[in-house]
Amino acid sequence: MNLILMGLPGAGKGTQADKIKEKYNIPHISTGDMFRSAIKEGTDLGKKAKEFMDQGALVPDEVTIGIVRERLMKDDCKNGFLLDGFPRTIPQAQSLEKLLTELNQSIDFVLHVDVPAEKLVERLSGRRICPTCGTAYHIVFNPPKEEGICDKDGSTLTQRDDDKPETVKNRLAVNLEQMQPLLDFYQEKGYLARVNGDQDIDVVFQEIESKLENLA
Ligand SMILES: [Zn+2]
Repeated sequence: MNLILMGLPGAGKGTQADKIKEKYNIPHISTGDMFRSAIKEGTDLGKKAKEFMDQGALVPDEVTIGIVRERLMKDDCKNGFLLDGFPRTIPQAQSLEKLLTELNQSIDFVLHVDVPAEKLVERLSGRRICPTCGTAYHIVFNPPKEEGICDKDGSTLTQRDDDKPETVKNRLAVNLEQMQPLLDFYQEKGYLARVNGDQDIDVVFQEIESKLENLA
């Protein structure tokens, strides 16, 4: 089962990825992990990627796709894979198509965990941090016992600039602008499966399961 997972920050992709990985016995391959292990293993492509990253530059697509290729050829991908964070652009998506054809494979589904932007703003801007001990809270999902006060040391909780609603909105808009062409691309190819991410975690997963079972 070859899957790509897409969704905006805060949509709950990570949680669903864990569940998919466990149930279908396929590895969750995030771009960051893939780069880190290629660098750690010291492969030629890993070394190349590191040179770019050390300079703070973007890793070129031909290096990235090479790393994806090596990763997809590993033993643990024999049942399939769950890609997360790749592809990010249409050229990358096209390279991935080509690569999969070479490997005699194809994408089964692109799962889009869809949550309305205003809900994401609520989720992402509700975070509060204790400046003393670093404990993170969420005003809705994980509130402290007393509003605005750390349970552990009584400090007044603060909101990081990154978590302020305006910043969150801008971040989401940038992400959506990047993701939308890919959603359109995969929609046209008939791979896209939209999942309503604005529900209880287990209900979201049930929806994913039913989409994937239709496939089998
Ligand atoms: Zn504290």
